Amino acid sequence: MYQRPHVLIVAGLDPSGGAGIQADIQAVTALGCHPLPVVSCLTVQDTCNVYGADAIAPELIVRQLECLAADVPIHAIKTGAMGSAAIVEALARFLADRREIPLVVDPVIKAAGGGDLADDELVEAMKQYLFPLADVITPNGIELAQLAGLDDIGQAAETLISQGCPAVLATGGHGTGPKIINQLFRPAQDASSWAITRRGGEYHGSGCTLAASIAAGRAKGLDLDTAINEAQRFVATAIDSPLKVGRGQPVPDRAASLPGATPAQ
Ligand code: PLP
Repeated sequence: MYQRPHVLIVAGLDPSGGAGIQADIQAVTALGCHPLPVVSCLTVQDTCNVYGADAIAPELIVRQLECLAADVPIHAIKTGAMGSAAIVEALARFLADRREIPLVVDPVIKAAGGGDLADDELVEAMKQYLFPLADVITPNGIELAQLAGLDDIGQAAETLISQGCPAVLATGGHGTGPKIINQLFRPAQDASSWAITRRGGEYHGSGCTLAASIAAGRAKGLDLDTAINEAQRFVATAIDSPLKVGRGQPVPDRAASLPGATPAQ
């Protein structure tokens, strides 16, 4: 018998299997950790867009969290689509006396197809209750601009930091140019940045995969910079062998780096 680091995941279910909690489970597993999945919402969705989402009752989530925490050590936590402001508040209460566990927050607001995954109340709850507890948040450019109300990446990140968010990894996957630039902003430090070759196109679930992979690294005891570096390598490998699932965006193949994985046809 042996143990793997445990990553608690609170995220939404995407039945297309491209994004959401399945992406997180696959990334965390491929990176050698054991996922503890708690579903925040169920979505109606294909590879093209999200057409609806229903949140799980916060009381049920609290029971799942308390039940798990009484039995299982938790080494890192990753959040994605949160379903409702009430779920965010319930999770923040659960985390209040577990501040030592690294928390990676992917502030999911919209699907790439434009479908909503968060209303204004939920966005405000994430900013107020979850961001201050996070090790890092991982917004893409669109999310970052909406969260801070500013288009400039640096200014937007500084604004969130001044509001109490400890670190912002601004991801550049939705931008243009030959390189994807991901930038990590922290208080009183120069930004660190990573330039990754852009493969072109959009990949359903790449943001989830990146954030979950960072959480896996943190669960394994890596420092934040190393966890981000390794997570970017994992996402790049997954995107290098994209899976065609439906008519919409291809899906990063989180199984691509597993021994014995056959290349996608
Ligand atoms: N979580 C859920 C449940 C989703 O449906 C989506 C997108 O559709 C996301 C998260 C975010 O996906 P991405 O990683 O493509 O930003």
